[in-house]
Amino acid sequence: MRVDVLTIFPDYLSPLELSLVGKARQSGLLDLRVHDLREWTTDRHRTVDDTPFGGGAGMVMRPDVWGTALDAVLDGAGPADDVVLLVPTPAGEVFTQRTAEELAGAGRIVIACGRYEGIDARVTEHYAQRPGTTVREVSIGDYVLNGGEVAALVVVEAVARLLPGVVGNPESLVEESHGAAGLLEYPNYTKPAQWRGHEVPEVLTSGHHANIVRWRRDQALRRTAERRPELIERLPADSLDRADRTLLAELGWYVDANGPRPAEIRTAEPHDAAALAELAGLTFPLACPPTLPADAIAEFVATQLDEASFRRYLADPQRIIDVATDRRTGELLGYTMVVLDSPPPTDPSADGAAELSKCYVRPELHGGGIAGRLVARSRDAVARTGAQQLWLGTNVANRRARRFYERCGFAVVGKRRFEVGGLPQDDVVMSTPVTTS
Ligand code: SAM
Repeated sequence: MRVDVLTIFPDYLSPLELSLVGKARQSGLLDLRVHDLREWTTDRHRTVDDTPFGGGAGMVMRPDVWGTALDAVLDGAGPADDVVLLVPTPAGEVFTQRTAEELAGAGRIVIACGRYEGIDARVTEHYAQRPGTTVREVSIGDYVLNGGEVAALVVVEAVARLLPGVVGNPESLVEESHGAAGLLEYPNYTKPAQWRGHEVPEVLTSGHHANIVRWRRDQALRRTAERRPELIERLPADSLDRADRTLLAELGWYVDANGPRPAEIRTAEPHDAAALAELAGLTFPLACPPTLPADAIAEFVATQLDEASFRRYLADPQRIIDVATDRRTGELLGYTMVVLDSPPPTDPSADGAAELSKCYVRPELHGGGIAGRLVARSRDAVARTGAQQLWLGTNVANRRARRFYERCGFAVVGKRRFEVGGLPQDDVVMSTPVTTS
């Protein structure tokens, strides 16, 4: 790849003789040439700037000097049909790893380093019309530097390390921050295993490859959620497995078809009654066996899951209702309802038992980690009341629900009969011990 840098401070670019970029130049992988813009001035003072039209502070770089310089460099060696004229400016598109990847595929890059208030705007306008040339005005971040040289160093280094052969082990590029996974990298450790009282995470010395991969993925997700939540929102839903979703739910996210969205889990309030009734009416029928007649289901929904019922449940001090909502829109995503001092039918004399009477999540969000978080919260709330057991009944035919509750720590302890619309149904009873943390 050929890169030309035009600047009034050529010495500023001397670090590009060092390290991997320096080696790439020596080995011919990178043909980097630095030019002094003043070579193309015509006056005694080698002037490159002048006062701005319209007045104001500072000086602006002259288009005529830049034009002569860029014509000479652009018309020089290299393929003429695949040139990127890169103009660093704090007013440009933000330079990212994607930009670096795109530039690494270009035949040639010419970098025009501005100084003062920048380069006369007609320069980019003019070269955007040059056949085979793409002009890209890029910013390396939301701050203002004195000149484009530091940006040129950044761009050249980020692009050069993507050229085949520049980085010795291409594997080291794969899991990096801002790479294909869309996550920040996990933390790295080396010897000694103990340093000033700080230990290396045990899993990394376990030799258990699958656990190490999972731990690193969890760390990458945690770091990204904490430091760059906007990157989490860009993750495609199909890139997230069940363990990712469970962790994201713990970190305050839920995953719908478009990817992760911020979620809030909170205690339900009286104003939630209507939304709770609506969600209950939608989700309860889906948990019923196909043999149950629609009118029996409808009767149950109308009499026990209607808005008035939820108003009563919300006002009942023996019930704990938690909701999961979309943090931005407030939309109800799921809910749990616990009934305190309610012994399981399998052990009617049990003291200190609470029933997880409802746990429902919008069907399109199943497997998104929300239900697990709601159950964990119910369990904590129950533990705080001093109860020792949380139990639930779920229809024998609903295997998906049973597997889910098993993952939450519930075990089948027996069966019960449960009436829906006057028709008896078979439920399995599942229970889990709860302890105060
Ligand atoms: N007047 C300009 C503005 O407010 O957008 C700032 C000019 S700045 C003082 C001078 C030169 O530094 C720019 O022309 C550009 O080459 C470079 N520069 C400054 N900050 C930059 C950044 N964040 N990214 C890329 N280049 C930058």
